Amino acid sequence: MRPSPFGSSKVPVAVLGATGAVGQAFVRLLAVHPWFELAEVAASERSAGRSYAEATRWIGDDEIPPRVAQLTVLPCDPRSVRSPIVFSALDSGVAGEAEAAFAKAGRAVLSNAKNYRMEPDVPLVIAEVNPDHLDVLEAQRKNRDWPGAIVTNGNCAAIAAVLPLAPLQQRFGIRNVFVATMQAVSGAGYPGVASLDILGNVIPFIRDEEPKVEAEVRKFLGHRDGDRITDASLGISAHTNRVPVEHGHMVLMSVQLQKKADLAEVIQTLSQWRGAEEACGLPSSPDRPLVLADAVDRPQPRRDVDAGRGMTVTVGRVREDPLFDVKLVALGHNIIRGAAGASVLNAELMAATGRIELP
Ligand code: NAP
Repeated sequence: MRPSPFGSSKVPVAVLGATGAVGQAFVRLLAVHPWFELAEVAASERSAGRSYAEATRWIGDDEIPPRVAQLTVLPCDPRSVRSPIVFSALDSGVAGEAEAAFAKAGRAVLSNAKNYRMEPDVPLVIAEVNPDHLDVLEAQRKNRDWPGAIVTNGNCAAIAAVLPLAPLQQRFGIRNVFVATMQAVSGAGYPGVASLDILGNVIPFIRDEEPKVEAEVRKFLGHRDGDRITDASLGISAHTNRVPVEHGHMVLMSVQLQKKADLAEVIQTLSQWRGAEEACGLPSSPDRPLVLADAVDRPQPRRDVDAGRGMTVTVGRVREDPLFDVKLVALGHNIIRGAAGASVLNAELMAATGRIELP
């Protein structure tokens, strides 16, 4: 693992929306992080002033890390939360204003919310795929007249789709993609979907999800064009579905390539891909961002969701597509690779590439 760019002392960080499903994943990851010290947790006025343990309905079989359990929950205001690096797991209803306030106060904000993802001067980053998109931060600071920064990670299903699409785009180009998802209930936050609606059932509708997946895949695979990100010009159609699975979004894709390739070349491209050099060896980087499952009936959420500590996307069933060129199935952990883990990796990437200035 690479040494910390901050030397021997850890940098204090905060989590906004720390009591929610994604916030709790941040707490687990940051409680043991080698470069960052989880110093502050913040949430709504309902939680502020209480201890984290009192304010949080902890989801999972483990215990709240003891040091975090006793932290007092702060309001999501930069006058109360002082850390230079701020991870946001805020509900989108409040994320827009709160994240801008932190960027105006000079903080680096790593956001999971949808509010800024599609702004041309806001990087939407998967560390292994498009680290160069961080270069628009200079333009963001100028355009918005704030000394801080907002960097976003994507919708959880879009991230699981982009990791296998990126190597195909880089080697062959992509003309069209058809995507259908099977998304876990934890993707809806806590308490999320009512158990009587989802047990033994499939819900073929997730509000606003399909346009998000379509737009974000194009932006992730787009390129930096001076001061802005220009989307990739591929066609994409997404169907999104909620299924009774705890964690792990499954993404089924048929892909039409620009340059013809046989199946063996596609499989070789996927299995050899290691992602951008800058993203290798960071504390949250998995050994491999993509792995190909050996068995014909994998990936499966229960068996594969924790691959690479939740940061590896498992790909299987790579085969010829009678309409397009190739079809495959990908599985990603929606809360880790699709949310908190992706944000922490983006912060590590920013730190390792000199993009975080400490006061
Ligand atoms: P969640 O479980 O509903 O948690 C929402 C968090 O926002 C809670 O900590 C809540 O605090 C806080 N909050 C709500 N209203 C607030 C207010 N007025 N002021 C300050 N804080 C407020 O949601 P989640 O699933 O963790 O998702 C968090 C964000 O990540 C959302 O923007 C979501 O779209 C995005 N995301 C989620 C996933 C996923 O798989 N779940 C994946 C990618 C991205 P209180 O407890 O005090 O109410």
